[in-house]
Parts: sequence; C-alpha cells; structure tokens
Amino acid sequence: MTENATPLQIGDLILLVDSKDRRYLLTLESGKEFHSHAGFIPHNELIGGDDGIHIKSTGGMEYLAIRPTMADVVLKMPRSAQIIYPKDLGQILISADIGNQHNVLESGVGSGALSIALLRCGAKVTGYELREDFAQRAIKNVTNFYGEEIVNRYSVNLGDAYEGFSDSNFDRMVLDLPEPWKVVDHIPATLKSGGVFVAYTPSITQVSKLRQRLETDNFVMLETMEILRRTWHVEGQAVRPDHRMVAHTGFITSARFIG
Ligand code: SAH
Repeated sequence: MTENATPLQIGDLILLVDSKDRRYLLTLESGKEFHSHAGFIPHNELIGGDDGIHIKSTGGMEYLAIRPTMADVVLKMPRSAQIIYPKDLGQILISADIGNQHNVLESGVGSGALSIALLRCGAKVTGYELREDFAQRAIKNVTNFYGEEIVNRYSVNLGDAYEGFSDSNFDRMVLDLPEPWKVVDHIPATLKSGGVFVAYTPSITQVSKLRQRLETDNFVMLETMEILRRTWHVEGQAVRPDHRMVAHTGFITSARFIG
C-alpha cells in the first residue's frame, strides 16, 4: 500500500473501470459480489485494498478500482430525469456564483446531479420538485454521495415552482425547468436583492421567452451562453480533436436581481 493512502472501506463508493473504459459504480458491502459478463469480483477482495488497485474478475477481465470523482458519480448514478452534465454543472456553479453558506433555491431537482454540485460548494440547498418519486430519487442520490448528515444542508419540498415558493431570502436561484419564465414573477418574493438567478434550458426558444420576461428594471447583467467541450485524441504523433463530441446540451442564462 502506498503511504498515506486510505484503504477502501465498507460503505465507500467505488468506480470499476474495465480495459474498454466501461465504468461501473458500486458501494462496497461485505459479502457482496459485482457481476459482469466476465464473471464476478467479491467486494471482500476490494475492502482493505488501495485506492487505485487493479483486480481480475473470475472470468479474467482486469478492472481498475478507484474512488470516483463527483463527475464520475453524477454520470453513473441512477436517474429519474435527464441530468445536467458535468461540463454545464461546472459553469453553472460559476455563473450562479455558488459559495460556502449561500442559501440556494433549486428547482426542479430531477435526479439530484445539480444538487450534488451545489452542495459541494458548501451551500445550503432547498429544492422544489413537482414529482414525489423524483424528489425521493434525488435525496437518495445525494445521501449516497454525502452520507445522511447532508440533510442538515439539503431538503426537497414538493410543489409546483410556477405557483411560487414557501421560503424566501435566498442568495441564489438555479432553475432546470421546462418553463422558467413562469417563475420570474415570484423572484421578488424569493430572492434577495443583489442575488443571482440562473436558468438552464435545452432550447433557444426557451431562452428567448425567458430573456423577454427578464427585460425589466428588476434584472441587470443578463447573459446567455453555452459550453462547448471538445476532447482530443493524443497518441504519439497522432494528435487531433476527437471525432465525436456532444454537440449540444443546453443554454445557461444568468442575471442579477436588484429588487
Ligand atoms: N437538474 C436536475 C434535472 C432536472 S429535470 C439534475 O441535474 O438531476 C427537470 C425537473 O423539473 C424534473 O424532475 C421535473 O419533475 C421537474 N419539474 C417540472 N416542472 C416543474 C414545476 N412546475 N415545479 C417543480 N418541478 C418541476
């Protein structure tokens, strides 16, 4: 074992990566087995091992076992609704200026990918979600990642965001809703003056409708952007952009509310 490494323990989230870069997320449990087309790996063979250990399944497939990053978890955790991808999560945290101790309103919560990212900045997150099954899924994903104590900083209210919110005095508001313009009238009662508003929307017609509603004296510094992420193939002298990229996910619109 390398110096200072914390060995893999029961309850840890672990990412298994095979030689074809297929990735699997699991939680280590005593006596359990991870099964694939290439036989299985007993969890007990991982427990106590190094973070970054190589291990063979009974069918001879070699896997890397390593603690996942937040992005690994978000991409592999069970989904109810479509998640926001890591490339957009990163920008949303900056555009919404999420900080330690900020009171953040999030709606809807979907699978909880954005919740996990907001919480990682130290924010206190209050979610509003229409569907109870989605709210439960988000809470499960969030507590699997952070442990049960996170409920001190994370809660989800069931409700329709277009009807307004039961809490107020938020520092930041982050929306991933089909019709975010329907929330704009509720912002003065919900967000502190000087607060930051961000909405994530897949289509540009949604952006137009939202921007029209934000064109009032209450909002300043309006901005809409998209994040294009292009990875590169780097192998010896063969260095070029990868052939495939995710061409489009969504638009990020931000504004400051000035009450
Ligand atoms: N950002 C989330 C995904 C959100 S998907 C993630 O990263 O995992 C959009 C969510 O908005 C869905 O869960 C949907 O149920 C919820 N939703 C749709 N209309 C709503 C409304 N009027 N009020 C509250 N939530 C709503």
